[in-house]
Amino acid sequence: MPRPIRATISVSALAHNLELARRHAGAAKIWAVVKANAYGHGLARAARALGGADGYALLDIEEAVRLRSAGMTRPILLLEGFFDASDMPLVCRHGLTPVIHCMEQLAILEAAPPEGPIDVYLKVNSGMNRLGFTAASAPRAWQALHRHPRVRSITWMTHFADADGAEGVAGQLERFGAMTRALEAPHCLANSAALLRYPQTRGDWVRPGIMLYGCSPFPDQNAADLGLRPAMTLRSEIIGVQRLQPGERVGYGFDYEARTAITVGVVACGYGDGYPRHAPTGTPVLIAGRRASTAGRVSMDLLCVDISGIPDAGAGTPVTLWGEGLSADEVAAAAGTVSYQLLCALAARVPVSEIA
Ligand SMILES: *Cc1c(COP(=O)(O)O)cnc(C)c1O
Repeated sequence: MPRPIRATISVSALAHNLELARRHAGAAKIWAVVKANAYGHGLARAARALGGADGYALLDIEEAVRLRSAGMTRPILLLEGFFDASDMPLVCRHGLTPVIHCMEQLAILEAAPPEGPIDVYLKVNSGMNRLGFTAASAPRAWQALHRHPRVRSITWMTHFADADGAEGVAGQLERFGAMTRALEAPHCLANSAALLRYPQTRGDWVRPGIMLYGCSPFPDQNAADLGLRPAMTLRSEIIGVQRLQPGERVGYGFDYEARTAITVGVVACGYGDGYPRHAPTGTPVLIAGRRASTAGRVSMDLLCVDISGIPDAGAGTPVTLWGEGLSADEVAAAAGTVSYQLLCALAARVPVSEIA
């Protein structure tokens, strides 16, 4: 028997979440964001399940080529564009749409022009101050692309820093408008949070990621209330049981001490599987569908759960770490992080299977 940990990816949940994104997007087209191995769900698998999207957005040209080899013919957006002149033949041959966010990329386009026509996204920095042209440089970039003989189309793009937070999108939206108004082209702005909360950001294309995987981008609104279904469920089993007397402790550093007599279920899952090591005592877990919480430090291959309230639990009892019945958002919040990180961190050693 293999170690009992495994992850399932629900194809119908992915399709359902895409449908929800579609309803929010209205007439806008959808880039399904499949970067980071489709947020840990498997690139090819997620791309297939999200086959109703209008295109896919990711980072590595090599991943884009893999999608093309798997027969995907929809547009593919390279969120950080190309990194070197040597990337250009692949961009061209596979019909990829690079984001152009800096002068160096413009220089590459001039020095090593693609052999055929390409579509590009012109990214502007509307306040996040990560990637993108400033108000001062954007018009020059637009002109350079506009007169480039191989650039077939330009789409304006920006990214929001706080669509999921208190500040929202108003300031960035206004700056984006001011930067792009005079130069007519389609717009692409919204991540999941903007798509769900700010219909005024829809533009011509939207770029949802996390919502497609069934997690909420918002700290103050849960995925179920948004109508989302978790796509990934991480499950394992209890493989050992310890009965602790008051004063006895469990795990590395003896971090957790029993105040009363408790029963500890030892679960075959640890940070080597992608479970967050910094998840503190009290992080929620489902034991045969019932809620319990972790006790003591997460180790590489194991974590401990107080199962005192679940008398029939023992070796072989199924455990859900996150997914169906326990949102990764909730586990992430308990661990002081976001579901994005949990999903992306699913380790290669965890067997993954696809379910309907
Ligand atoms: C990751 C990413 C997205 C998707 O963001 P979510 O919060 O997962 O919806 C959209 N646009 C860009 C540029 C990104 O890097």
